[in-house]
Amino acid sequence: MTAVFRFAPSPNGRLHLGHALSALLNQRMAEAAGGTVLLRIEDIDTVRCTPELVAGMLDDLDWLGFRARPPHRRQSEHFADYAAALDRLQALGLVYDAYLTRGEIREVVRRKEAQGGAWPRDPDGAPVYPGDRTLLSPDEIAARRRRGEPHALRLDMAKALAMVGEGLGGQVGGPAGRPLTWQETGTGPAGETGEITAHPEAWGDVILARKDTPTSYHLSVVLDDALQGVTHVVRGQDLFQATAVHRLLQTLLDLPAPVYHHHRLITDATGRKLSKSAGDTALHELRAAGWTPTDVRARCGL
Ligand code: GLU
Repeated sequence: MTAVFRFAPSPNGRLHLGHALSALLNQRMAEAAGGTVLLRIEDIDTVRCTPELVAGMLDDLDWLGFRARPPHRRQSEHFADYAAALDRLQALGLVYDAYLTRGEIREVVRRKEAQGGAWPRDPDGAPVYPGDRTLLSPDEIAARRRRGEPHALRLDMAKALAMVGEGLGGQVGGPAGRPLTWQETGTGPAGETGEITAHPEAWGDVILARKDTPTSYHLSVVLDDALQGVTHVVRGQDLFQATAVHRLLQTLLDLPAPVYHHHRLITDATGRKLSKSAGDTALHELRAAGWTPTDVRARCGL
């Protein structure tokens, strides 16, 4: 079987050194495995991912010497595929309408924490979804539904875990069952490597589709990796914990699991992870300042 790698940036800002490391590492590992590398444009956020940013991204990658096998899949052209996957999860009874707005979630958390308890946060630090009933009366929920108010679609995590647990012959992660795992050839933030036990429950009821976007990162990434026959996912350590959700969705949707390789992140002088707003490390700025692709490789430790 030929190894298939992919670099999957979201063009909602210009590419920086962290992206360069990811792209070049994918290319290098694909070459070493005698496989291919694909480029996937993760532009489900059609407002923030502008045509100019996509063009800039392609230009940066070309300059860098990243060569992916065409065609380059653009997620915004495949919303129907994600809708079909969502339908499957819906048919399994695992999806529900979630009406709380961001402000309302903050309000629930504030109230609960004012009573003394700490509200659980997901691995990215966002509050776990508390459920509509923590703030809204059944009448209010029904009224919002009747009025057709915008809402997100969320995965019922407890139900999904129970279903997968049964499928695997026991409770996920529990003493009786075979735990949900993935194969890690890189390292997690705490040095985790090898067979990793997934803890999707840490994320709570993750979003599967947003008010303004008919899919989510988790759903589309899992589906596309399968549709494109991706065998190796090489990406930054910031997505290590998200892999747990990806393994859960793959299991629910009967999709194969790629091997995962999470790589170190490039940090700035103060030790912070680079972000797309960190203009000084944007590839086009470095290029304008006279950097060569060789300089970029060296700065990335490649
Ligand atoms: N599109 C995601 C990002 O730019 C990466 C997706 C992935 O590699 O799984 O952060």
